[in-house]
Parts: sequence; structure tokens; C-alpha cells
Amino acid sequence: MKHISFDMEGTLIDHGYSEHIWGTDIPQLYAEKHGVDLEEARRRVFHEYDQVGGARPEWYDVGYWFRRLGLPGDWRELPERRRGLIRVYPDAKIALEALVSESLLVVSSNTIREFLKIQVEEVGDYFTHVFSAPSDYQSVKKDQSFYRRIIEVLGIEPNEMIHVGDHYTYDYLAAQSIGVEAYHLDRTGKTRGEDTLESLTELMERLEKA
Ligand SMILES: [Mg+2]
Repeated sequence: MKHISFDMEGTLIDHGYSEHIWGTDIPQLYAEKHGVDLEEARRRVFHEYDQVGGARPEWYDVGYWFRRLGLPGDWRELPERRRGLIRVYPDAKIALEALVSESLLVVSSNTIREFLKIQVEEVGDYFTHVFSAPSDYQSVKKDQSFYRRIIEVLGIEPNEMIHVGDHYTYDYLAAQSIGVEAYHLDRTGKTRGEDTLESLTELMERLEKA
């Protein structure tokens, strides 16, 4: 049985859930706390996000942002409260249903564990393993070493895994460079390459032909 690894955001679910928490909920809490309107709060919070930057691990840590921005309450309540915003792509549902009987499915994501846990619950009970680069490996991106660790945990060789995701560098190139059979999902259909897919139903077609 082959292992098929999926990226989460942009691949199985859309970006709406994370975007709402980072782009609206956190600025909203900031606005209430500091007595400014939402627009001003967004300006200030986004400026703070830029100050830290995605190359540092704390950028991904909601608890860190609650402390840094002086926000009230328990940050863990936020990802749970927004569960209803998680939208699973219809083709993802179809592909997971079809593939789960003939493959071992895993999630390999750059999302923190507290978000990822809820996302996986909403997608469904398909996965043997769920890997979070920032939470499990304190890594800010899905690089070669992330995929090597996954292979190691699964106890397989790189060529026994398929990975699919929507980021050309961190899903496609990084996985492919260690010998994983990787596919780049471009839902816009703008790029076409040998290993480019427009949907996850296209992944099913590829695997049937193989
Ligand atoms: Mg993605």
C-alpha cells in the first residue's frame, strides 16, 4: 500500500478559516482591547505580523500573538469557535473517499497543531498520521528535512510515498527533491507542468493510470 500525503490549506480545505482568524478575529480583539476601529486595528496588527515575519517560528503561534498584542482571554477558544468556517473542497472529499480504501493517507501541513486538529476533524477520519511542521518539528517551512522525518516516522522509503499540495516550492519541489512522487496542485489552472494537477480528482485519474 502506498502512502499518500496531503497538504491541508489550499489542498483539502480553502484558506478561509485561517484567514479569518489572522485577518479578522485577532484584529477585532485588538480593536476592542485598545479602543480603535477595525481598520486601524488591522493596520497595526498586520504591521506587527510583518515585524516578526514568517521566517520566525513565533509568527505561527497564536498564543505568542495574544501575549504580544495584549489580547484578552484564552487563545485556544478561537480556533474551536471558528470551526464552522472550514470548507472542504468537494473534489478533496471525492478523492479521499476513493483513495482511503487502497492507500494509507496522511496530512503534512505547515499549520499549527491547534488549527490542524480541528481542520482534520472537519475533513474526516481518513488519516493514519497528521504532521505539523511548526508544532512537531519547530520548522517554519516544509523543507527537505520535514519530508525526511515523515518518511522516517512512517518507516518507508521516499519512493513509497506520494505528496500533493498547492505550494510549488514547499509541497512540490521539496518533496520531489528527496525522491517522493510529488504533484503540484494548481486550482487556478494557470500553470501546466508534467506534475501539475488542477484538482484532486485529477490525482485519482493519474494514480489509476499508473
Ligand atoms: Mg497549502
